[in-house]
Amino acid sequence: MTVQRNLDLRFVVIGAGMSGILASIRLREAGYRNVVLLEKADTVGGTWRENRYPGLNCDVPAHAYTYSFAPNAEWSSYLAPGPEIQDYFEDVTDRFGLREIAHFGQEVDSCTYQGGVWTIMTGAGMSIEADVVIAATGVLHHPRMPEIEGLDSFAGTVAHSARWDESTPLDGRRIGVVGSGSTGVQLVSALAGRAARLGHFQRSPQWIMPMPNIPYTEEQREAFRRDPALIDAIRYDPEYLANVLRFTEGIIKPDSEEMHIIETIVRDNLEQGVADPVLRERLRPNYRAACKRLIFSPDYYQVVQQHDVDIVVEGIERVEPAGIRTSDGILHELDLIILATGFHADRFIRPAVVTGRGGVSIDEMWRDHATAYNAISLPNFPNFFFLNGPTGPVGNFSLIDVAERQWGYIEQLLDRVTSGECAEICVTPDAMARYDEARTEAAKGTIFASGCSSWYLGKDGVPMTWPWSYGRFAEVMAKPDFADFEMVAAKLPA
Ligand code: NAP
Repeated sequence: MTVQRNLDLRFVVIGAGMSGILASIRLREAGYRNVVLLEKADTVGGTWRENRYPGLNCDVPAHAYTYSFAPNAEWSSYLAPGPEIQDYFEDVTDRFGLREIAHFGQEVDSCTYQGGVWTIMTGAGMSIEADVVIAATGVLHHPRMPEIEGLDSFAGTVAHSARWDESTPLDGRRIGVVGSGSTGVQLVSALAGRAARLGHFQRSPQWIMPMPNIPYTEEQREAFRRDPALIDAIRYDPEYLANVLRFTEGIIKPDSEEMHIIETIVRDNLEQGVADPVLRERLRPNYRAACKRLIFSPDYYQVVQQHDVDIVVEGIERVEPAGIRTSDGILHELDLIILATGFHADRFIRPAVVTGRGGVSIDEMWRDHATAYNAISLPNFPNFFFLNGPTGPVGNFSLIDVAERQWGYIEQLLDRVTSGECAEICVTPDAMARYDEARTEAAKGTIFASGCSSWYLGKDGVPMTWPWSYGRFAEVMAKPDFADFEMVAAKLPA
């Protein structure tokens, strides 16, 4: 039986990064005529548009970090460089005709629900009414500036990795990279050999998972063009998928065999990869592997040894006009300080003010921590859905796969609305509370809570992430439990 759907419903998708592009494509493919895509910046791409630092790449295999419906035979290597990924998103945007629905330079200030309608206002003065809002605003987009005494007094250049000016001179300069997350490690790998002196300031050294990055030859790319099954063979490579499963099992069971395998690999990498015992100890973390997001790097240990990179583990005392003074009294003279100090990861759609039914605000809902039922829905926020929102899976795997599964779930919720079965849908307060309690308890037992600081932790110290297996995530996303949802047949007064 063909279900009649209301194709005139009005959709606003907020954010033209990976998730917002996905939602827009899927909505247009389904035939909805009123889809508006709002983006604060001047083009698409999200994190790949914002991050332009030297050495940026994606440590997830390129063919797995690709939409399932838009394979790309052109990736230059197993792990794609950031600019290529940005080009991919620009290309997909063109191919699927999204520029006609996209409005750039439109940062959303507020979303307000009243009488069954969402009103979305932007800082640039747009005001749009919508029946459905998709919040695809990303996670890591509010750079965290460190509070380091004297930073303003530095006579050289200070740059955050996510606010990179590509004209910054690098060759022959004395450069300090602060931060040893994925960004800091990629920066150091790229700058070693170019800088006259390179210091890597590591408040917490990181465990490094070796990850070869092999370029694809033109012959291989030609083969991918002719036979997409070859691309699928990489995307669905059993060994890669087994590693992802092993990793996600290890995260939720810190004492499992899976986690011990991960620990063994990263420990062996350090023991065998770093020859000098003094340097090796400087690079040794004092917390468990995968407590912070694991660094996957093809060359970090090799690079810091070949190029005599200064690994500085003494704390930063202050910044002076000439450089960074560490707690051992040494002044590290520098021309450029790159802050690879991460992001405020609990913001999500904020600072936009989002107000649901009865005037409830997202800030109130998130007073203790950012959350959403199954990372998708909030009570009293009817027809308002997150993609890659709070409590979703994060880690060393493809967030495109996460978003596609989430979209499959949202589509099933939307079917109830667009078929006219109900006008509005959102999780019930009771189901939200049960989810949040169970999630919080489970999160306390994950490796992320095993005794380190990281952006995975909320301000209450509890990991903000999906705390169960990836298999469970896939199952939950495959079929919503509609008993947990409130479906309103007629529009309620605000
Ligand atoms: P991050 O993982 O949050 O790391 C921030 C680093 O800055 C940490 O080493 C932190 O030290 C240090 N730091 C912060 N404040 C400091 C201060 N006041 N003094 C000294 N050090 C300070 O940030 P990120 O490296 O930008 O990565 C964020 C996330 O982006 C990653 O986890 C990943 O999800 C994503 N990412 C992915 C890729 C990829 O290839 N897929 C690449 C880059 C980024 P502590 O550890 O001691 O706090």
